[in-house]
Amino acid sequence: MVNFQITPNFTFHEFIFGTNLPLVAIEMNIKALCDSKHYETIAESCRPVFCELQRIRKKYNVPIYITSGYRCYDWELFRKRSGTSKHVEGIAVDFQCEDQLIMNKIWEDLQGWKGGLAAKFVTKKGVRNVISFIHIDTRGEKARWMY
Ligand SMILES: [Zn+2]
Repeated sequence: MVNFQITPNFTFHEFIFGTNLPLVAIEMNIKALCDSKHYETIAESCRPVFCELQRIRKKYNVPIYITSGYRCYDWELFRKRSGTSKHVEGIAVDFQCEDQLIMNKIWEDLQGWKGGLAAKFVTKKGVRNVISFIHIDTRGEKARWMY
C-alpha cells in the first residue's frame, strides 16, 4: 500500500491502519483503497482534517495516535453500521494521546471546531470522565454528540 506524509507528523498509513482497528478491517480498507485507485480520492479528502490534527500536534507537542481513521464501506456494513460515517468519506479521525491532562486541554481547544466533534468518556482506574478518544471531522457544519 502506498505511503506518504500527509503532514509533518502524520502518514497515510497511520490513517489507513488505525491503532484500534482489527486486522480484518485493515485488510478490507486496503482492498477498498486499491480498487479503482480509490486511495487517490481518500488521500485528498483527508487533508483538511489532518491540517487541524497537525495544528494540535504542534501546539501540544506530544505523540498523537490515530485509533481509527479511514474505514471502508464494507467494513462499516460488516459491523452493522449504516455506512454513512464520515470515516468512510475519509474526512474523520479518532485519536488519543497518553497524557489525560493534555487530552482534556485538546478537548477544550476543539470546542469551537466548525465540523463534527465528539468524545468517548470512560471510567478508568476509578477515575470518571477520562477521555478515551476524540473524533473530529470536516463535514462543513457543526455537529456534536457523545458515544
Ligand atoms: Zn470517529
